[in-house]
Amino acid sequence: MFEALSDKLSGVFDRLRGRGTLGEADVAEALREVRLALLDADVALPVVRDFIARVRERAVGAEVLESVTPGQQIVKIVNDALVEQLGGAGAVPVNLNAAAPIPILMVGLQGSGKTTTAGKLGLRIQTRERRRVLLASLDTQRPAAQLQLQQLGERAGVTSLPIVAGQTPVEIARRALDTARREVFDVVILDTAGRLSIDAALMDEVRAIRDVAAPAETLLVVDAMTGQDAVNTARAFNEALGVTGIVLTRMDGDARGGAALSMRAVTGAPIKLAGTGEKLEALEDFHPERVAGRILG
Ligand code: GDP
Repeated sequence: MFEALSDKLSGVFDRLRGRGTLGEADVAEALREVRLALLDADVALPVVRDFIARVRERAVGAEVLESVTPGQQIVKIVNDALVEQLGGAGAVPVNLNAAAPIPILMVGLQGSGKTTTAGKLGLRIQTRERRRVLLASLDTQRPAAQLQLQQLGERAGVTSLPIVAGQTPVEIARRALDTARREVFDVVILDTAGRLSIDAALMDEVRAIRDVAAPAETLLVVDAMTGQDAVNTARAFNEALGVTGIVLTRMDGDARGGAALSMRAVTGAPIKLAGTGEKLEALEDFHPERVAGRILG
């Protein structure tokens, strides 16, 4: 793994062989390569800076091991720090430890894959956890949005809330929760409207929905291709709502996944799931080690 970066670093560190510790100047040179790799993977600039500072602290003065080259050693330090910052080993599950019906709020920008992810998550919870799921679209902005979720639900075999024209998102949220209580659903997935960019009206609307629904999870759905904008998106949603988990979509594409590091750094919320395709089954646990590998290239 990490052959590309290791190759680059081996040149930097070859001359270090046989010395006692990693020196500051050598580490600085190596970290320049790491910085480029992170920027290349679309990690946001402020996040790269913080990360590099942390790794520098760990690397300078570290004893040069006999068993590996110094280049490999610093790649390991960088990789370990990345995995740690991405959430450590193992995936954090979606929280279903709450009284039924458990509301899960899906938020994000339009086109991030939010509605698709709502359907995928419904299917996953229903098949893996064997809980009854109700899907509800609160997107009254896009005329086709509620229908889109309903059709996804039909394909997935997950019930969706009947569409009633003219209701506000908050009214639909209340109706979804009432229906779930009455018809004994375990989980209610509330899909909210996205916008092309963050705006005050969107945030006010989602906040009002959150206040009514008191979600056990507020999942921010982000396209892995987002790149530098990931930080702004994450910060805005987190400040307005308090994000409890992140879903990174389009991990099947060629995005290196730098957005994951940015989102995680800004919100502190764990990345819980990864979307890996258009199919309803294409939703996986998020594995920090794999994404660290992708980021380092
Ligand atoms: P929304 O506007 O955020 O609700 O986005 P949609 O759920 O409508 O998704 C927009 C497009 O992205 C659709 O064509 C989805 O099939 C596609 N999509 C969503 N998630 C993924 C993913 O993980 N991988 C790929 N390749 N496509 C995805």
